[in-house]
Amino acid sequence: MSSKPELLTVARLAPFLMQPLQGAFTLHERLHEEDPAAFTRIAGNIRAICGSGESKVSAELIGQLPALEIISIMGVGYDGVDVAAAKARGVMVSHTPDVLNDDVADLALALMLNVARRIPQADQHVRQGRWPAGPMPLARKMSGARLGIVGMGRIGQAIAARARAFGMSIAYTARSAKPALPYAFHATPRGLAAVSDFLVVITPGGAATRKLIDADVLRALGPEGYLVNVARGSVVDEGALITALQQGTIAGAGLDVFENEPNVPEALRALDNVVLLPHIGSATTQTRGAMAARAFANLQAHFAGTPLPSPVPECR
Ligand code: NAP
Repeated sequence: MSSKPELLTVARLAPFLMQPLQGAFTLHERLHEEDPAAFTRIAGNIRAICGSGESKVSAELIGQLPALEIISIMGVGYDGVDVAAAKARGVMVSHTPDVLNDDVADLALALMLNVARRIPQADQHVRQGRWPAGPMPLARKMSGARLGIVGMGRIGQAIAARARAFGMSIAYTARSAKPALPYAFHATPRGLAAVSDFLVVITPGGAATRKLIDADVLRALGPEGYLVNVARGSVVDEGALITALQQGTIAGAGLDVFENEPNVPEALRALDNVVLLPHIGSATTQTRGAMAARAFANLQAHFAGTPLPSPVPECR
């Protein structure tokens, strides 16, 4: 029998994470999905799980792994992990906060600029040879506009720092007010939307934030307002958003995340007032490398018996 601990991967992980994992563990790559019969035979040996922010680690899967000790997620969001079931079994859960703040905040600003200044459409205007026939219609200025941030955590604060350089006025909502921050607090997303030109969503996913942005919030944002979602698709009522975009209830949307990824509704893809990205918030070589290093460091620390660099708050 191998002396290395056995680890189940629950996502297609990047080579720069697979390589160190292969050195330190006996790997079973998505065996629960690829070969359930073989998985059943080795399930009792699995001591670790490694996955991405989008991975599902259900109570049922945890229940099949009696020797499981740690779930290491390469991502800050861990809404796919049943943390209560893990905790009930004494299984640690870790994630990779902070190292991706810059990338996700950069992308939020990029989506705001792209949707308001209609950059994808302007690029097409040039590529398709339409420029000689006339200029683009005028767009919407972003600098100096009112920004509302739904979720003023690590990434929300990085978005606010960038927006300040654009001379934007900044307000936010969160579970609690942050008196140390120089931004106005609103108790509800609806109240915040009513005083925002751009509403950027950057809360965790999961049951507590499901459809936090609903038809009411979109109505409050209004026909001059733009929605940007870099959080999770579950936080926005996608049906209500499509209706609002079709009917001009809001001006437009920039979306990095969707309810049923990687499937994006045809009704959304058909709209001209949206910019759609395939969940690339942290998808740079530099940041994914840092996230992989942290995910591996959490596993290494666990098996060395030292404190984890970044357990999720519920496991601290
Ligand atoms: P964080 O530091 O934990 O901040 C989360 C913020 O959301 C906090 O301000 C929190 O309020 C607020 N919040 C939580 N539940 C809420 C609720 N029910 N209603 C209103 N506000 C609520 O997390 P982070 O590091 O900034 O990351 C945020 C999320 O971004 C992640 O969980 C992940 O889902 C998403 N993300 C997406 C990508 C991407 O690729 N698009 C990449 C990375 C992360 P309090 O401060 O009052 O607790």
